[in-house]
Amino acid sequence: MNTVYIALGSNLNNPIYHIEKGIRQINHIPLTYVERRSSLYKTRPVGPQNQADFINSVIRIKTDLEPIELLNQLQNIEKLHHRKRLKKWGPRTLDLDILLYNDIEMNHERLVIPHPEMINRDFVLIPLREITNMNFTLPKYGKLTKYIE
Ligand code: AMP
Repeated sequence: MNTVYIALGSNLNNPIYHIEKGIRQINHIPLTYVERRSSLYKTRPVGPQNQADFINSVIRIKTDLEPIELLNQLQNIEKLHHRKRLKKWGPRTLDLDILLYNDIEMNHERLVIPHPEMINRDFVLIPLREITNMNFTLPKYGKLTKYIE
């Protein structure tokens, strides 16, 4: 099976509920299960500060889905969460990003892996460090620890 790291983030309407439910839904994606999850981290939003804190987590899954098939499944889960209360664009009830997929590098119009922003975001790097080891290496970018102070 393929090893994939996914970042989860939420800052609206009971974010812990959305993260926990999102993890359970990912565990129910066909040919996929959640192998490891980080703690939940509370972080300040990037960009506009006039919104609620985020809850973030990173999980490791095993899957037999191809990257785009997995993205489709994750976007379906995002839609199930967003549909509930959001009338217009704003803070996210659930954001799911594919960080890493095995050691591949891809530049598809819908999917860039490794996720190009991951090395700039402590709310991704720190939970990722929690569930990997000291020598964990990112394709394209190199050693994870060199991006964390
Ligand atoms: P966002 O609004 O930040 O959640 O971005 C969603 C868009 O990013 C979607 O249209 C995806 O096709 C695209 N995307 C590109 N690379 C990735 C990735 N590694 N994980 C998730 N979405 C991605």
